[in-house]
Amino acid sequence: MREIRKEIRTLLKTGILIAAALPQVQSSAASPAAAQFGPGNPFYSPSPLPLQAPPFDKIKDGDYQPAIEAGMAQQREEVRAIAENSDPPTFENTLVALEKSGQLFNRVMLVFNAIGGANLDPELEKLQQTEAPKLAAHKDSIFLDSKLFHRVEAIYKQRDALKLDPESKRLAEYYYDAFVHAGANLSEADKVRLKKLNEEEAALSTAFSTKLLAATKAAAYSTKDKDALAGLNEARLKGAAQAARDRKVEGYVIPLQNTTQQPDLAALSQRATRQTVFENSWNRAERGDANDTRDTIARMAQLRAQKAKFLGFANYAAWKLQDQMARTPEAAVKFMDALVPASTAKAIGEAKDIQALIDARKGGFTLEPWDWDFYAQQVRKAKYDLDEDQIKPYFELNRVLQDGVFYAANQLYGLTFKERHDIPVYHPDVRVFDVFDADGTQLALWYCDYFKRDNKNGGAWMDVFVNQSKLLGTLPVVYNVANFSKPAPGQAALLSFREVETMFHEFGHALHGMLANTVYPNLSGSQVARDFVEFPSQFNENWASYPVVFKNYARHYQTGAPMPEELLAKVKKAAKFNQGYALTEVVAAAELDMQWHTLSPDTPLEKPDDFEVQALKSKGLLIAAVPTRYRSSYFAHIWQDEYAAGYYAYLWSEMLDHAAFQWFEDHGGMTRTNGDRFRQMILSRGNTEELGKMYSNWAGGEPSIEPMMKFRGLVPEEASK
Ligand SMILES: [Zn+2]
Repeated sequence: MREIRKEIRTLLKTGILIAAALPQVQSSAASPAAAQFGPGNPFYSPSPLPLQAPPFDKIKDGDYQPAIEAGMAQQREEVRAIAENSDPPTFENTLVALEKSGQLFNRVMLVFNAIGGANLDPELEKLQQTEAPKLAAHKDSIFLDSKLFHRVEAIYKQRDALKLDPESKRLAEYYYDAFVHAGANLSEADKVRLKKLNEEEAALSTAFSTKLLAATKAAAYSTKDKDALAGLNEARLKGAAQAARDRKVEGYVIPLQNTTQQPDLAALSQRATRQTVFENSWNRAERGDANDTRDTIARMAQLRAQKAKFLGFANYAAWKLQDQMARTPEAAVKFMDALVPASTAKAIGEAKDIQALIDARKGGFTLEPWDWDFYAQQVRKAKYDLDEDQIKPYFELNRVLQDGVFYAANQLYGLTFKERHDIPVYHPDVRVFDVFDADGTQLALWYCDYFKRDNKNGGAWMDVFVNQSKLLGTLPVVYNVANFSKPAPGQAALLSFREVETMFHEFGHALHGMLANTVYPNLSGSQVARDFVEFPSQFNENWASYPVVFKNYARHYQTGAPMPEELLAKVKKAAKFNQGYALTEVVAAAELDMQWHTLSPDTPLEKPDDFEVQALKSKGLLIAAVPTRYRSSYFAHIWQDEYAAGYYAYLWSEMLDHAAFQWFEDHGGMTRTNGDRFRQMILSRGNTEELGKMYSNWAGGEPSIEPMMKFRGLVPEEASK
């Protein structure tokens, strides 16, 4: 599972969420920045470079603000003209016109977002903050415009009579849903009330975020006693000493990560230290001080339930899941419930193995959550004896890219790739490739920016500089970003297998963008629901270990020798280790999220601790040694990061990915026929059909959870292999 990665921008959808969450500010059309905008600005007209690639050789920091402000002003004008058109609403003069609006705005924002994520500097960071409320208000001005909504609604109501083609009909539904979702069909008085609720929610979310940041910092483990840190390697000790210096304290500091479990717990051999680190994490936001988040989240859950009622839904999750593949909280819950028995049974089995090891070493104590990773690590070593340094020489970055990632895309979809050096880039590490279809026509440009930098966000992601659209006559310009360690000059870049999977993962997103073949820009590529967007990427990870592909790229970077069979077998076997625990902690968090967001609107304020215990207990997930991946009081995904009622999406996409791979296995594996069919029915289609239907048309039925369970080694027969 990949997580907390800023991966996909759904500009319009994100815009709605932000619009609903922030107070309106005054129009900035007449701002001085907009006035400076003219033909000298590199965003002024579409880029003359191939496929409208951004002219990074010409773009300066000072160019963004005038272009963004002029872009907003221009789109507001365009939208006003649509809303106030005296002709009756037609598909053409309303929805097509909306799809054509905002081209300057999109042109600059896509580049601004890319640089903000991958090559930020203080000037642009400041600009991000200045522009955020204006951008939110900009979206507001579109989605709460009642004249515009009435035109959209009129077309939506006639969508069958108009005999629209399927993609156009989908566009009519898409816009209508987006407007309704934002509250456009409320009365003007109710819109004002909604805005109040949204403002309170936004304020609570900000308060949560501020408190959690401070609470997490304060709960770092700190010690002057080096012996307490026994088990950490030199590099980690140095890191802890540096963290202490950064905070101007003596000794060592282990800052907390956002999850319940902390990475160093796998190495710390002093049980008392482990317990303290764990408890610091578990109680970080529940200390009864100014950074305690419990009152904040209780009110947020209640307020969201009230807001859902206001918008005409039974609960917040029902409102939130309306445009997702799962569609209803019931469907998501049914799916999660089905994962519980096998994952908890497996976790309980793993706990027994660990307890046996503790007993064999005469530990004389019962396994607690702070012991899990430490002993699991010992079991892992004993069972698999796997050393990263043995593996990495077989995964040289460029070889993985050319002979692995590109090779798989060639075998499946007939694509070929050619590096070019004449397209300007924003940093010397960035590489650009032409992407050709099987018949030699150009499909896309693809950029990769793989190495870690201090001014780059963590993780890895995909996004676009230009969206594919037949309406606008644009081909996709797509990029991948990652944070692999940059080798010293002249040295080879060697990856871990997890990093290899990350390359395949992000390239799966990129394929979703590059193979897009739709008319409307807002339905194109990877702009799909949260519980579907990780499907193409996770699916593409499967090819990393597919024998034909693996043999083609996993060669020693010096000798060219293939990875020995036994080493490969170890890598594969180790991947199934500890899966009971790994799945249970995620399912627990996902169920917890859904229970907070299916509260009825008249529920009194909950007590978060009691609620949490009850929620987990009711699902059979209250297991002492296997805590939830996030406790309610520090579950930033759902109180801060727009994953409310959406954490299940990680698991849902995983189900789709394994079910789809199973389909390939059942139909002859990696063939062009299978690849072309997948491209035709899924990868090229963006959001042009209801996603559940799109999937089942391709697969010939609903997705099953069994392939996912098998992959995680949670099906008994697999265990013997
Ligand atoms: Zn992803």
